[in-house]
Amino acid sequence: MSPLPKNLGELRKSTWSEDCYAHRTVRQELRENLLRKMEKGEALFPGVHGYDDTVVPQITNALLSRHHFILLGLRGQAKSRILRGLVGFLDAQVPVIAGCEINDNPYTPLCRACRERIAADGDATPIAWLGREQRYVEKLATPDVTIADMIGDIDPIKAARGGRNISDELTIHYGLLPRANRGIFAINELPDLAGKIQVGLFNIMQEGDIQIKGYPVRMALDVLLVFTANPEDYTARGKIITPLKDRIGSEIRTHYPATVGEGMAITKQEAWTAREGKRRVEIPEYIREIVEEVAFQAREDKRVDRRSGVSQRLPISTLENVLSSAEQRAVRSKDSAVVARVADVYAAIPSMTGKFELEYEGEMRGADNIARELIRAAVGKTFTKYFANVNFQPVVQWFEIGGELKVEANASSAELLAQLKKIQGLFEHLETLGVKEKDDAAIQTSAAEFILEGLWAHKRISRSEERGFFAEGRKTPEPRDPREPAQGGGRMPRRQFN
Ligand SMILES: [Zn+2]
Repeated sequence: MSPLPKNLGELRKSTWSEDCYAHRTVRQELRENLLRKMEKGEALFPGVHGYDDTVVPQITNALLSRHHFILLGLRGQAKSRILRGLVGFLDAQVPVIAGCEINDNPYTPLCRACRERIAADGDATPIAWLGREQRYVEKLATPDVTIADMIGDIDPIKAARGGRNISDELTIHYGLLPRANRGIFAINELPDLAGKIQVGLFNIMQEGDIQIKGYPVRMALDVLLVFTANPEDYTARGKIITPLKDRIGSEIRTHYPATVGEGMAITKQEAWTAREGKRRVEIPEYIREIVEEVAFQAREDKRVDRRSGVSQRLPISTLENVLSSAEQRAVRSKDSAVVARVADVYAAIPSMTGKFELEYEGEMRGADNIARELIRAAVGKTFTKYFANVNFQPVVQWFEIGGELKVEANASSAELLAQLKKIQGLFEHLETLGVKEKDDAAIQTSAAEFILEGLWAHKRISRSEERGFFAEGRKTPEPRDPREPAQGGGRMPRRQFN
């Protein structure tokens, strides 16, 4: 490849000719590159899962139509990731007039400084090159964002020093939007933007001009505007000014993963599980399923606020915490392997409770209790998936004739394995989980514990903090699940089984 042109004269003679590039807008550029990728059969949004048949075709249509668009969705639905992914449809590099604050196109400069410079220097005007990452600007809308932040302000010092008229554009201190010229400007949570700023945005989209402090300023910016919003906020009356809504070409709904499998793929990609250390690390598949199922349970639970949703960050940070809990146990008990167990999912409750908002009923119950119930339900559902038609009567019977299993907190996997092996009929079912007798003790104990937790989730056996697992109906005078904090008391429940 020949070196990139360094001045306007070189640029004119290069493949970036005036004919081709003087009037090629960002949205045209995105369209052309998108079409090229599709012709080649390339992945359009690598790393985005579960949207191939829904969101991706709609975004593709919006880009082909050269529309500004908005993604409407609840938190943790990969909206920001998708918008950042648009960068992949930009040219690798584009020429700009060197030093221009608003990335002026060398053939059609907007700002007066650049026009004056070209008039003075002609073909010697220096050219700089912008990479695609530099052409993406993102802003979280909040009510205190001002016109000055977003669009610009008149700089009175500049004006006074130059002896210029205040409405002369050389006195403008540019805001974020003009600085995104020739790129993509993303505004997250659009409804939080004050009406006045929305009017400003609309004027720029529609007329290419704007008033700053009452002075009209011409700004025919070349930019793709993309937005995100919570659907309820967006449709609420009076939140978005009608003419702005009218200018947004497409409204595209995002969604949570449709299946546990899709959710697991996202979580697997995003969660930090490649831990360094001397021990072998393993998260059994059923643990990954349980963690994902917790999010699915939460999204359906009436006690959880559906308007704010349950972010995909819930299973992601939970899985990270699950693994950390397993690491902690392995180090304390000097186990040779780090293998996650159901107990680690309970230990990961602190990474769940901030990821959902509760309805009144849920608040009364408390976030920790809700999380515990969600885990128990998730364990039950996952257990049924593996063991729908399996007869666990012998295991239940072992408890009914008085068997109990209590494990000290820092027991090693080998110690726990020895105890678990006493339970008749339990280990023959481990193969359903792909676990064999020659497998590491930590893997076998995790699988056996999953079965006991599953039986407890289905109320076939009991479990309490003091006694561990025991037979259903053989309760000591213990009115409620002792994993829950005592009524009125602030005591944190100790867990016996981890
Ligand atoms: Zn300029």
